[in-house]
Amino acid sequence: MRRYGIQTKIVLPFMLLFALVAIVLPLVAVEIFAWKYDEQFTRETEGWLDTITKTGYFGEDPEKIKSAYSVEIMIFGSDYTLNGTTLDKLSDVEGDWTNLADKMRLREVKPRLENPDGKSVIQDITLNGKPYKVFYLPLSLGRYYCLLRPMEAIAEAKRTFTWYMLSIAVLVIGLVALISHLIGRNLTNPIKVLVDSTARVATGELDELCEIKTHDEIGDLAAAFNQMTRDLKQSRDQLIQAERLATAGKMSASFAHEIRNPLSSMRMLAQMLMQKPEMAVEKHQQSLRYILEEIEQIDTIVKGLMDFARPTALNLAQQPLAPVLQAVLALMEANLAHHKIQLVLDLLPETPEIQFDSDKLKQAFMNVVLNAMEAMPQGGVLKVSTIVNEDMVGIKVVDNGVGIPAEDLAHLFEPFFTKKTRGTGLGLANVKRILEEHGGSVEIESTLGEGTEVSLWLPLSE
Ligand code: ADP
Ligand code: MG
Repeated sequence: MRRYGIQTKIVLPFMLLFALVAIVLPLVAVEIFAWKYDEQFTRETEGWLDTITKTGYFGEDPEKIKSAYSVEIMIFGSDYTLNGTTLDKLSDVEGDWTNLADKMRLREVKPRLENPDGKSVIQDITLNGKPYKVFYLPLSLGRYYCLLRPMEAIAEAKRTFTWYMLSIAVLVIGLVALISHLIGRNLTNPIKVLVDSTARVATGELDELCEIKTHDEIGDLAAAFNQMTRDLKQSRDQLIQAERLATAGKMSASFAHEIRNPLSSMRMLAQMLMQKPEMAVEKHQQSLRYILEEIEQIDTIVKGLMDFARPTALNLAQQPLAPVLQAVLALMEANLAHHKIQLVLDLLPETPEIQFDSDKLKQAFMNVVLNAMEAMPQGGVLKVSTIVNEDMVGIKVVDNGVGIPAEDLAHLFEPFFTKKTRGTGLGLANVKRILEEHGGSVEIESTLGEGTEVSLWLPLSE
């Protein structure tokens, strides 16, 4: 079971880190700000105290100071009793002198006031539920002067500031989460498509390719995957074709054997019958000729089957190509003339010597020429030429016959594929096998109604 997807693995750690930074940073900023402000605040108040001391403002009415500086004043006697204050609403408990002295931490600050070290004596205290910063000054006769600065507004400001900062942080975290979710999805979606494609290929569906066109590593991966699928499909198709050929071969071999023997008996008997005086009537003779013709047709088919089924070893010899082709064409000359087909020969006078089995090549070439002839029932032009490129010699057979429909092109080499009433469909399958046994290949180009060009390619020997 998959627990965390790639997207979570990418997004989650960054989100946690970011959230930590986004929350801690404002809190630290608020603290630093408050600390700096406190310093400034203290210096300011010290300034005021200085002025108050130097101008002898002490003696004045504390209410005046209160209204001048917005501070509160408390004056304690040497026995910590409250001598005077600007605070008006002290609760009963805080009105209790001893308790108030404790609250004001007078006993605590007393030693420091008696032995001043140059630093102001300051304490944070809460009175009536309100925070104050208290600055202490010793007066004559052991009395104490306390200046209280209300801190409530500052504490409130700090709280508000903190809330603002945290709200912004939460907003930004949400935004970042959304964006990283989108980025993550963008990254992982193509991977999901790839995974689906892989699952499809695993079930043997090789026709549909993976539709990812991104120009990144995942795009490369998809391209490689598609290439792999295509290769897989090609080799699977080849395997099917080979299997089909093998089956066809086996079947053909056994059929051919079974048919050939009775066929020769039939041919012999028919020929014998033709000699009989009872059969000398033209009507009977005509029938017998038909029978013999049909027997010949069956024999051709059987021979095709046998050629196809019998994978004999190649009898290779280094030899020139032109004489072999000319021998075949010479055999067919009468046939071509009979069908009103004009032969145009364009053979290279000197093809490089190549290695081939002349019987098999003759067989292949003859099949191609026969197909061309059959494609031109009303006559036409048959061009036979040879060409040489870097590492191959090509035999081109071009006719201007009926041509081949595009949908048939893919099936031409399949055994038993034929469009002719008297065809075997083994001709081109044989041609292809012979050429491939030589390390060569066959190419067919055709336009329906215009003609066909068949090229037989043989490799040049090193
Ligand atoms: P067959 O000749 O017995 O039909 P082939 O394997 O030789 O079998 O040819 C298969 C089919 O390919 C033919 O039936 C024909 O439809 C087509 N074909 C082959 N060569 C040509 C050609 N030169 N012009 C038109 N069609 C062709
Ligand atoms: Mg044929």
